[in-house]
Amino acid sequence: MQTLIPVEDNQTVSSLISSNGSTWKEDTVRELFDRDIAERILKIPLSSEGCSDFASWPYTKNGIYTVRSGYNLARTNQFWINRSSVSSGSSSNQDVMQKLWKNLWRIQCPDKMKIVLWRIAHNCLPTGDQLHKRSIATRYDCIYCNKFETLEHCLLLCHYVKEIWAELKKCFNLSLNLKSFVHIQQWLLDWISSASDLHALILAVAIWHIWENRNNIRNGEKMSHPSRVAGKIKAYVNFILLHNFRSTGSNRREHQVSIPKWSPPPAESVKVNVDAAIFAQTKRMGIGVVIRNHLGLVLAASRGFIHHVDNPELGEAIAMRHALIFAEDSGFQKILVETDCASLINKIKSKVDDRSHTGAVVFNIKSRAPRFLSCCFTHVSRYCKV
Ligand SMILES: [Zn+2]
Repeated sequence: MQTLIPVEDNQTVSSLISSNGSTWKEDTVRELFDRDIAERILKIPLSSEGCSDFASWPYTKNGIYTVRSGYNLARTNQFWINRSSVSSGSSSNQDVMQKLWKNLWRIQCPDKMKIVLWRIAHNCLPTGDQLHKRSIATRYDCIYCNKFETLEHCLLLCHYVKEIWAELKKCFNLSLNLKSFVHIQQWLLDWISSASDLHALILAVAIWHIWENRNNIRNGEKMSHPSRVAGKIKAYVNFILLHNFRSTGSNRREHQVSIPKWSPPPAESVKVNVDAAIFAQTKRMGIGVVIRNHLGLVLAASRGFIHHVDNPELGEAIAMRHALIFAEDSGFQKILVETDCASLINKIKSKVDDRSHTGAVVFNIKSRAPRFLSCCFTHVSRYCKV
């Protein structure tokens, strides 16, 4: 790998890592490498208390190579090679898009709803803005408020649809997280990749209904109150949950519409709820930890920010490691740790070494757990975390 300035022949990676071994020397990394490579290096998680180096295969969940994953990768690459011959795009963009499709197509809703999301991602829904660009003679304004109809206005920002989203927020605790909104495609990608299965489903159903409602009104139907549209969305979500989720076993039960409540720990223990939120635009991650006793009283809480993280599972893992350090420093001996990241819980409970991108942090979590008299990790639905 080429560096921007010459380095000594015997210089090793350790010269890029701080003396305590847990953080990259950001200034040195940026001095030596161009921006893209520096960003990639800074994103590599470091173990806080040392672990052996390991080779990681990024195409399986546990980072260990399998022939099947190699075969699937070759097929996927061929797909993207074929696709890039018709539309240009950088390989990193392709990686990102590939993840989006995967998340998008696995949403448990009818295909017609996924297709609307797909069309948003390709910016090919015929909103006023698109029709104007294509010089198609028609109205270009919003049917609800007469503002120029962009995709984001039509689906997210118009006061009429905002009322629908507000209803859904009340009912399903679903938040659109529009604070760092820049492009609807990017927003959709980030949103789906960090959403629970249930929220992804609700989003797909809601967007389809909002788009349908808009088309129906454009075609002459009477305008109904936003709460009626929200009511249809809720009914549709309940319908899907009843038919699609009921028979899929206990692992899906958490996705029922009834929202589970936070459950207290036994009297001698404390419950540690961990949460991480990634702000994709700034590549910052917010961490939150709340420790409560059996009466639900908050005994300790901690929050903070970490930079250079854009992988949700890694974010949750770093938050979990932070929670264990915080709980130990606060003197708690018996803890029950809850997170909504099921894949992280699987990795912590797995007897197999984790060699994925999250591996070093999972190693820290596993090695810290025995320091407590008791330490249990459980997966919990997103709704009952805090
Ligand atoms: Zn409008």
